[in-house]
Amino acid sequence: MTEKEKLDSLLGETSEPNNTVNEEQISENAVNESKEVVNEQPQQSQPQQYRRLSYDVASRRPLEEVEETRHFAQQKGLATVGKTIGVDANGNAIGDGWIPVDKSILGDRAIYYPDDWQFRIRPATVEAIRNWSTIDEENINVIDNVFNEVLKSCLSIYTEDGPKPWGNIRSWDRFFFLLLIREYTFMHGEKKISYTEYCPECDNEITFELTSDALMYEFPDPEIMSMFDRSTMTWVIDPSEYDIDEPIMTFYLPTLEKDANIKEWVIRKVRENNNAKIDQVFLRILPWMAPKISKDETIARRQIRELELKYRSWDADTFSFVDEVIKNIIVQPLQKITKVCPICGEEATSRIRFPNSVRDIFNVSNKHKKFGTK
Ligand SMILES: [Zn+2]
Repeated sequence: MTEKEKLDSLLGETSEPNNTVNEEQISENAVNESKEVVNEQPQQSQPQQYRRLSYDVASRRPLEEVEETRHFAQQKGLATVGKTIGVDANGNAIGDGWIPVDKSILGDRAIYYPDDWQFRIRPATVEAIRNWSTIDEENINVIDNVFNEVLKSCLSIYTEDGPKPWGNIRSWDRFFFLLLIREYTFMHGEKKISYTEYCPECDNEITFELTSDALMYEFPDPEIMSMFDRSTMTWVIDPSEYDIDEPIMTFYLPTLEKDANIKEWVIRKVRENNNAKIDQVFLRILPWMAPKISKDETIARRQIRELELKYRSWDADTFSFVDEVIKNIIVQPLQKITKVCPICGEEATSRIRFPNSVRDIFNVSNKHKKFGTK
């Protein structure tokens, strides 16, 4: 497995630069029977207000208060947790257990969660990371499962309608929350994942550190953000405006739950038939086509079959339109981290690297002084 494939998988990247639509796929999809697509919302929905004003939309708190919170967290020595951990709205002190995450640290990505959702994290438990030091780095499946184990036990979502499972986290935020939990787990600054490079501006050394707040993302262009409906958390797009003769289409945000259930479906399919052909392009589009994919084997099988029929019913134009839409509405985690150069003040970037091993993310097996060299 190449470094790039590994990173793709860790960061949950879904769109491969080379994975563009080719002739063969177009003709394969040019079977046009049913014209019914991913569209259940013909009614006009109002563009939602999503830009920050004098208050922080994500946490619904005045900006000043959010600043105060940050200051408080710094005073309490939480700056070592990547300047990122918040306190609750009442300024309650932070204990060892669950702590609230100030949603403003998600930046523009907070738009993709309802206002009433509150995230809480706790340090990774020994149970969740027990096997971490022994994982096979080449086996992305295993890494995936351990990552999910950590999120499952250390992340919770509170909403006005009660708690929601961790799987509702958007796909692109997985690595962010993992690093956040990591920073809380090792809050005294131990176990830094860092490396040094030269500043492209002033040539001095910069130490890059892999932290939640150093991650970078590519966002949809501002002019298409009006098509994102915050009340339903869907993208509502009218193909007729782009000369595609199709009714209005709805695209649902990819989530960790959908990713996991789709992966299970793929694994079952390959297990049943070693030669099973899995259409990678369909896999990339699939998470956007439905609000949920069931965990239940039978239901998932039926759901995905139906969605695949839809997908195969698209003519070449519709297919390349959908492909284009997804490339434009996705939040793409970049394989880079950022750091402001302490000497010249320029913002520098560097490729994400694990100087030793991916295992370093949660490897707690060597908190003591190392015995020998093996
Ligand atoms: Zn510099």
